[in-house]
Amino acid sequence: MKNPSHFIKDIIVTPIAITDPPLLNCVGVHAPYALRIILQVETEGGVVGVSEIPGNKETEEAILKIKDSLIGLDVFQPNKILQKVAEKLPKTEDNRGGTPWDQRIVVHIFSAMEVACLDILGKELNCRVADLLGGTMREQIPFAAYLFYKFKGAGGVWGYDLDPQAEGWAAARQAEAISTEGIIAQAEAMCQEFGYKSIKLKGGFFPPDKEVPDTLAIYKAFDGQMPMRYDPNAIWSLETGIKWAKEFKGKLEYLEDPVRGQENMSKLRREVDIPLATNMCTTSFSDLPGSMKVHSEDIILSDHHFWGGLRSTMELYKICKTFGRGFSMHSNSHLGISLAAMAHIGAALPIFDHEFDTHYPWQSEDVIVGGKIKIEEGCVTLPSGPGLGVEIDPDALEKLHQNYLACGLTKRDDEAEMQKLDPNWKVVNTRY
Ligand SMILES: [Mg+2]
Repeated sequence: MKNPSHFIKDIIVTPIAITDPPLLNCVGVHAPYALRIILQVETEGGVVGVSEIPGNKETEEAILKIKDSLIGLDVFQPNKILQKVAEKLPKTEDNRGGTPWDQRIVVHIFSAMEVACLDILGKELNCRVADLLGGTMREQIPFAAYLFYKFKGAGGVWGYDLDPQAEGWAAARQAEAISTEGIIAQAEAMCQEFGYKSIKLKGGFFPPDKEVPDTLAIYKAFDGQMPMRYDPNAIWSLETGIKWAKEFKGKLEYLEDPVRGQENMSKLRREVDIPLATNMCTTSFSDLPGSMKVHSEDIILSDHHFWGGLRSTMELYKICKTFGRGFSMHSNSHLGISLAAMAHIGAALPIFDHEFDTHYPWQSEDVIVGGKIKIEEGCVTLPSGPGLGVEIDPDALEKLHQNYLACGLTKRDDEAEMQKLDPNWKVVNTRY
């Protein structure tokens, strides 16, 4: 049934740069800004749907290149829109690459268009996006504390500058966290501020003889009462993984990507009695047959930006349940539109297995009306409005767009950022 008011009239693509602290990971350190792309899809009927995806000049150019072919398509027919995206862009992206992040262009654009369409559908039908994903099972969506080793500083235009007035989490966000005491202090400040009920430590920068005892020290600091995850982003050899994973027995909720590739994950899984999770070895539908064949992980960490949208994330959830896998969600530095989209997935899941990851507390800005979404008792309350339930603040968007133009970054490159501090630093597949 065609209704011309549902046809796409315009797509506004706005690259932005958001302040990002110097967080460490296996490939280097976050730059002073993280890049995002904000999409606003407007229909002939004047309804605007929004979405947010990781920023990258190539992704932005790809959207602009195919934009005209999407004008006139019906937002109530998202499959046809995704088919058009796939037709217009070369399919060259089976492999996500080895970095902790994923910048496959086609799945990102799928996600950007699908989320914006669902936002419009919700507004047209006066229901929430979670209702379009099967119904709202819960209003409070649990997220996990996400700890990082980091250098001193909060990121931004003055590079690692500090606010001497900062207190509480704002102070912890800019503090150095390298020592065991430093990372425990970060955990305590984050849990105090946001009431989280589980903790993840991003590792992979330091050797396991520091990071594994640190993880166990955090576990001990919370009296063994806080479910813990640890993620060295596949920087360990299989031998290293077997040696160190055993230290975690009975103490981790899960160990995330200790080693690289499905075969190595499967071998490690047979050697150690500890749940393994991934957002690196099983990251697309084409990876699922291999995952099921070798049982490479126990928990799949989805990411709607990388799996092609919210409905495909729900399809992944169903496959996880069918094959006995746990399900949760991965994150990169992001703002409130992505957080709201994740919350709608969390609201719609029939069974909620594990608190979702989010970088959100590391970000100090947002593009949505009302400023940052609150995280209380470790949970985001599902927005009450139709669609995603968030609206863009044009002034905030423009300010962050100006940041993008001024900062000169065109893609994420943690290696280059680290080389400013250590010219000998190099990305490697296996460091330890
Ligand atoms: Mg990970």
